[in-house]
Parts: sequence; C-alpha cells; structure tokens
Amino acid sequence: MRPFSYTRVSDPATAVEEVASDPDSAFLAGGTTEVDLIRIGVARPRRVVDINALPISRIEEAPDGGVRLGGLARMSDVAAHPVVRERYPVLTRALESGASPQLRNMATMGGNMMQRVRCSYFRDGDAACNKRAPGSGCAAIGGVNRGHAVLGTSEHCIAVHPSDAAVALTALEAVVRLRGPDGERSVPVGDFFLPPGDTPEREHPVEHGELITAIDVPPVPAARTSVYLKVRDRESYEFALASAAVVLRVQDGAVAEARIGLGGVATTPWRAHRAEEALAGAPAEGASYELAAVREMREAVPRSMNAYKIELAERTMVRALRTAAARAEGVG
Ligand SMILES: Cc1cc2nc3c(=O)[nH]c(=O)nc-3n(C[C@H](O)[C@H](O)[C@H](O)COP(=O)(O)OP(=O)(O)OC[C@H]3O[C@@H](n4cnc5c(N)ncnc54)[C@H](O)[C@@H]3O)c2cc1C
Repeated sequence: MRPFSYTRVSDPATAVEEVASDPDSAFLAGGTTEVDLIRIGVARPRRVVDINALPISRIEEAPDGGVRLGGLARMSDVAAHPVVRERYPVLTRALESGASPQLRNMATMGGNMMQRVRCSYFRDGDAACNKRAPGSGCAAIGGVNRGHAVLGTSEHCIAVHPSDAAVALTALEAVVRLRGPDGERSVPVGDFFLPPGDTPEREHPVEHGELITAIDVPPVPAARTSVYLKVRDRESYEFALASAAVVLRVQDGAVAEARIGLGGVATTPWRAHRAEEALAGAPAEGASYELAAVREMREAVPRSMNAYKIELAERTMVRALRTAAARAEGVG
C-alpha cells in the first residue's frame, strides 16, 4: 500500500479546490470502488478528499414533477424513496439489483456514475490494459472475454460499463450536474459516458476536480410503468450479463413512445436508438419487439467468448418490452 493523505471537507467549494489543485488527488464518497482500487494499486492517489460531509445528499421533488438526486444520495435511499418508487420504478429496480444491501447503504449516486470497469485485466496491474496504462494493449480482446462488451467497442477496449443505475438514467434522459473550479454545468447522461474509441482511459467528459453535485431526473409520465430487467450468472450480488431499462407508452395498440437502455453488453450505458426507431408507431406486440431487438443488435461485434450476449440481449429486451407493455395496459 502506498501512503496517502486523507482530508475531510465540509463545503463543495473546498472539495473542488482541494482536488482540482492536485492531479494526484481523488474524491472519496462511499469508498466501495475507490478503496478497492487503491488496495489493488489501480488507483494511486497521494491525497484522498472525503466528501461525505458535503450537503449534497438530499433527494428532492422538482417543481416540474421530476426529482433531484444529490450526488451523495445513497443508492439504498434513492431506491426506497417514495417518489422514485412511484414515478421511476425502472430506477428503483436497477438500484436494488446492484451490489448488496450493505454496499448500497454506503455507495452514492455520484460514485455509481464514476465507478470504474470490472474487467479483470483492468484490475490486474500486470496485464495489458489501455484504460489503466494507455498504449499497453487490450488483453481482453484475445483473452477471457465472456463478460465483455459487444456494442460500442474499439480495438483498444472492450470492457463493459458496470452500472445498473446509469442504464435506467439513460432511458430516463437524466442530467448530471457538475461543479468545477470554473463554476457549474450540466451534462445529459447520454453524453456523460464516453465510448472507448482511441482513448479508453477517458471515460467521462468530467475534468479532474469536477464534483457531481446532483443528478436531475426529468418528469417522464410513461416511466410510472417502466421496467428494469437484469440477467446475470446468479440472482443477486452480481453484475449484468445483459440488462434492459424500458419506458413504454402504448396508445390504441401501438407504441407511442419507447425508450430503451441496455446494460451488460456495451462499453457505455447504451441507448438503444435503433430499436426505439423500429418501435415508433409499430403494433405493441411480440413481433415488433423481436424485430426491434434484432435491429439494435445487428451492429454488435462479438469476440471469442461473448457471442451469446447478442441473443441474450435481444431476449432481455423483448421480455422487458413485453412486461412494460403489460404494465402500461394495466394488466402487469
Ligand atoms: C462487490 C461489488 C458488487 C457491485 N455490484 C454492482 C452492481 O451489480 N451494479 C452496479 O451498478 N454497481 C455495482 N457495484 C458498484 C457500486 O455501485 C459502486 O462501487 C458504487 O456505486 C460507488 O459509489 P461510492 O460512493 O462508494 O464511490 P467511491 O468508491 O467513493 O468513488 C468511486 C469513484 O467516483 C469518484 N466520485 C465519488 N463521488 C463523486 C462525486 N460526487 N463527484 C465526482 N466524483 C466522485 C471517486 O473519486 C472515485 O473515482 C458493486 C461494487 C462492489 C464492490
């Protein structure tokens, strides 16, 4: 273990200043990712700035009918909040299907958005990994890649984005609020996760020292019957092999609105635009869902061990669409 200093701050301006002024520093929220990465030597901060005392943990109803989730709101508190449960069941379910109850009590929304990939080559300091050591190569491409991505990959990285909540927030078109040395700004979730391309080490458009103060979820009336379906090797305490977040509105037997996020299969929380386009105005029935799912996965790039994810993602999408349609029609 390398030594590092520890500072506890109580106001956002100081937190930003402390981290922005030192490239070797890092925020510490729940610590459920950061402490792990420090222990295994993948994160090597010289200074850790504990932000748990900042006043950014509230969950508040917004005047427009949406909800603001503080950057330090705990996953378990967000999942259990009555407004979230009623208006955004997709988010509650995504949060409840992640990690374990103990972890969710510690882990924060900001930390969840910033968590690093679970690729074993990223976490193994001796393996080639362009994300951890740019230019060293990607051991996963020719290695054990059963859990890796088939969408949004590049020849430099195929690691899957691990967050469940971010998949739901993608379908809900949430907005991340940031505070940095130059003031505040907002980034739509759709722009918040960068595909690896030639620079897999850069995962977000966030500058060093920028703090996630909140996540704004806009009002989405159709989300009251939304669905999150996660498929994994075991039923709890496991990351997704494939997941789907679905917001569906059906009118006169046809799809009036469809928003789909995919997890477990892509390098970013994936917005299934091709499937959504295929569904627009289509009959709300199985054949439309199957066609849309196949269309989404048409551009998937399988590797030696993960071709199964293409069909798995299609089936996950179809099942989530069927469930959402049944709920939307009041029979689910
Ligand atoms: C065993 C295990 C299983 C898990 N399973 C799942 C799962 O199934 N699904 C899932 O979605 N997640 C899962 N997780 C990940 C978990 O959700 C994250 O570890 C957690 O959300 C991170 O939040 P934290 O507050 O602990 O962040 P920290 O560990 O404190 O920080 C994580 C990163 O975010 C940065 N950071 C933290 N807060 C902010 C902020 N406000 N602004 C800017 N940067 C910030 C830190 O500097 C650090 O780089 C699992 C984790 C573990 C250990």
